[in-house]
Amino acid sequence: MSELSNLIFKNKKHKLSSPFGSRAVINTSAGSTSSFHNGADYSTYNEKLKQYAVTDGKIISCGIDTAYGSAKYVWVEYPKLKVKMLHYHLDEICVKKGQTVNSGTVIGLTGKTGMATGIHLHLGIKRLSGSNYIDPEKWSKEEFPALLKNIEKSKEKPETKPKYKTGNYKVKTAAVLHVRTGAGTKYQIKSFSQLTSDAQKKIKTLNNGKPANGYVKGVTFTASQIKEANGYTWGKTPSGWVALDYCEAI
Ligand SMILES: [Zn+2]
Repeated sequence: MSELSNLIFKNKKHKLSSPFGSRAVINTSAGSTSSFHNGADYSTYNEKLKQYAVTDGKIISCGIDTAYGSAKYVWVEYPKLKVKMLHYHLDEICVKKGQTVNSGTVIGLTGKTGMATGIHLHLGIKRLSGSNYIDPEKWSKEEFPALLKNIEKSKEKPETKPKYKTGNYKVKTAAVLHVRTGAGTKYQIKSFSQLTSDAQKKIKTLNNGKPANGYVKGVTFTASQIKEANGYTWGKTPSGWVALDYCEAI
């Protein structure tokens, strides 16, 4: 089956029972001719399978098509896919007009409302830029995968808000907090003598008069620059870079 129908049925068993364009019996709202099948039919082997939205979209219309034997239908618009899809012959409609949907939304249950001989999905697709029905299977194979990949890629990039800002901090770890020459664990750890005299004074005061190769608990400093590296947020202090994850803002 196509990737598209697999997504609609969440991989539940179905098969293409009548392709687009063939001389099938017309069961659809938009069918004005009697010989052209303007969608693809998917049999669900007599199961009223749930039909899901394939990605983020919006229900632009749904209801009962009285012109064709009271078929229940839903139209979903997918701006990022640049198409809208018609789910036809539904047993039950599970959405409302204007509702936003995503790949977890159940649109409806597969049925045979309207002029249908058995339980199946008649899927119609139109481009948002056009009014003609296009072949769902062809579109699914030739255009859908790339469009879907783009959508997934854009979702992978969540906005990373820095956890820490520039400002004043106090060391809260009991361990000695290393001061490095750069933002990241690959940079060298500075020794006590390489720290500023102000830092050396603070360390000694808080460490019973003894030096330490880094900031001890209670040392305060100002972070003037922030960088992310190795899973830590690094702050630039007068003596060098430290992981702010072990400090608290004051
Ligand atoms: Zn059909």
